[in-house]
Amino acid sequence: MFLHGTSRINNEGHLEIGGVDTVHLAKQFGTPLYVYDVALIRQKARQFKETFEKHHVKAQVAYASKAFSSVAMVQLVHDEGLSLDVVSGGELYTALKAGFPKEKIHFHGNNKSKAELEMALQENIGCIVVDNFYEIELLKEVSSHAKGKIPVLLRLTPGVEAHTHDYITTGQEDSKFGFGLQNGQADEAIKRVREDDRFHLLGIHCHIGSQIFETTGFVMAIQKLFTKIKEWKENIDFIPEVVNLGGGFGIRYTEEDTPIPVSQYVDVIINEVKKQVALMDIPFPEIWIEPGRSLVGDAGTTLYEVGARKSVPDIREYLSIDGGMSDNIRPALYQAKYEAVLANKANEPNKDVVSIAGKCCESGDMLIWDIPLPAAKPHDLLAVFCTGAYGYAMASHYNRLTKPAVVFVEDGDAQLVIKRETYEDLVRNDLSYKVKVKKP
Ligand SMILES: *Cc1c(COP(=O)(O)O)cnc(C)c1O
Repeated sequence: MFLHGTSRINNEGHLEIGGVDTVHLAKQFGTPLYVYDVALIRQKARQFKETFEKHHVKAQVAYASKAFSSVAMVQLVHDEGLSLDVVSGGELYTALKAGFPKEKIHFHGNNKSKAELEMALQENIGCIVVDNFYEIELLKEVSSHAKGKIPVLLRLTPGVEAHTHDYITTGQEDSKFGFGLQNGQADEAIKRVREDDRFHLLGIHCHIGSQIFETTGFVMAIQKLFTKIKEWKENIDFIPEVVNLGGGFGIRYTEEDTPIPVSQYVDVIINEVKKQVALMDIPFPEIWIEPGRSLVGDAGTTLYEVGARKSVPDIREYLSIDGGMSDNIRPALYQAKYEAVLANKANEPNKDVVSIAGKCCESGDMLIWDIPLPAAKPHDLLAVFCTGAYGYAMASHYNRLTKPAVVFVEDGDAQLVIKRETYEDLVRNDLSYKVKVKKP
């Protein structure tokens, strides 16, 4: 059993997180329940920040809030002194509601609407990460809402795509995001933004993938970006103040995953930028990064109550739980793998091999295939680890299931930070259909 952060097995043989017994949490708040280990989030945030401080590099560590956005989460991010990425009006609204400092908010997305851009300019947020030519024109249209010059980064596709264990380089990246670095789009975008004095071009951005365990992809992306920066310096006198290298740092979901410490990604990134800057004798840019999954992924655990059990003789044992793809779509969406324990029998030996079935009406709603567990009975408590990123954030109302509650635990204290939805919440926006045409 791999225990993340403050998770441990207590004297009663129960899983405990943040000093709180998960059996008590389930009793108090019901199931399914997302439990976040606040100390682990803080620890990761500090590791990122401290590595930049160690190198004396000006930096912003921006939490990619799409991984898990809520008022309390945004407040925690602020408490740790990080910046914040948002990708929609809704995430921006959440950040504003949480009182997050506006100048530390960065707005991403490949199809920001006019209304979203207006909102961002009115609120005078830190920067807009411009994705495409259409967005440059939209920003000009709404520029009267800006308080001063519009601070922008340009999202570039460097032609490096990093996956979990490998990376590919493509001369011409086929991506819906960003301006191509190789095909001249990046040069054209820089020109258009710089020739319009409504913009302040802060710098450039790239994001090469997610759940990355290697540093090679980052090094290659930096090399490609700086090859271009050299050209821009010589030909158009443009040197970025900010180089944003995105997120994508991997975490351990199961024993197949072999992440490196977050500080190591940052070390490698800084060292490569140092090397490039020294080669071309330019002012050292600010380095920004955008961790999402690596800040919250392994800090989240979902608690479920065990229900029905079905045995298919000689084939498989299905153990059903009171949630599923509605609170964790990742297994169904991309065969994501998870580890789990029986939280109320955490010390008992694994005697069974079962497959964990969600309660949604889809055969594909399976959370974990063939996992060893102690003998499980109805009302036992199943804890699935590492559900903190892209779990609640991707939750749906499929089958009209209500979204679970979220609690933060820290130092023996548990606090509800998102209430469980009620049936009333489900029909809140439903309207009756009033028949206007009488049947003949
Ligand atoms: C999704 C995303 C991130 C965060 O990715 P993680 O894999 O969760 O770290 C960062 N930056 C951008 C632009 C993204 O789209």
